[in-house]
Amino acid sequence: KGFVLAIDGPAGAGKSTIAKLAAGKLGFAYIDTGAMYRAVTWKLLQTGEPFSPELAGKLANEIRITFRPENAINRVFVDGTEVTDAIRTAEVTGLVSKVAAVPEVRTAMVDQQRRMGAEGGIVMDGRDIGTVVFPDAQCKIFLTATVEERARRRGLELEAKGEKVDYKKLQEDIAFRDKQDSEREVSPLRQAEDAIYLDTSAMNIEQVTDKVLELVKE
Ligand code: C5P
Repeated sequence: KGFVLAIDGPAGAGKSTIAKLAAGKLGFAYIDTGAMYRAVTWKLLQTGEPFSPELAGKLANEIRITFRPENAINRVFVDGTEVTDAIRTAEVTGLVSKVAAVPEVRTAMVDQQRRMGAEGGIVMDGRDIGTVVFPDAQCKIFLTATVEERARRRGLELEAKGEKVDYKKLQEDIAFRDKQDSEREVSPLRQAEDAIYLDTSAMNIEQVTDKVLELVKE
């Protein structure tokens, strides 16, 4: 069936965690559009060339991004090479918003996203799914939390991986990425008018997932 669940929101709001769990419960496919912009950014860094909108646009039109879900992880491939972890480095995270602001990059990614979701039965998360990619999605959720809470959650994840965390820096990085994503000219991060606003600051993962599934069923 042609059902699309669109989940948008700022960085670190738990979109991918919730989207993955909801997709599992609904028997839908999950598409992480942030991973696609990260993949283009990774490819750009691989060239060794400095960032330019022209280069980013060219690579976005050439790149082949594929997803392979495996148990709880969503493996990501670029032109056949696995980049699941490589697209999560601080280097990629620091540059991705600049790459994602390039109009040609967005056109190329949105085209692919629409093709991937054409059949429906998908949960897609990002920044512009409800506003631009699938404005007719049957269910749109704008998932957010305070910047302090988002930094805290991301920090716990990093600490669980054995990394040392500077919470103040983490919070600044998240706020900076939100600012860039909200202030860009093309498809800025915005809540769609018909999206349901869900502040998860005081909710746990299970509560958020249940709430999202309840909203889908309405
Ligand atoms: O969701 P994630 O944090 O992995 O996204 C990485 C970056 O990709 C965002 O900060 C944003 O710049 C960009 N992005 C976007 N549009 C989307 C998804 C992500 O511009 N639909």
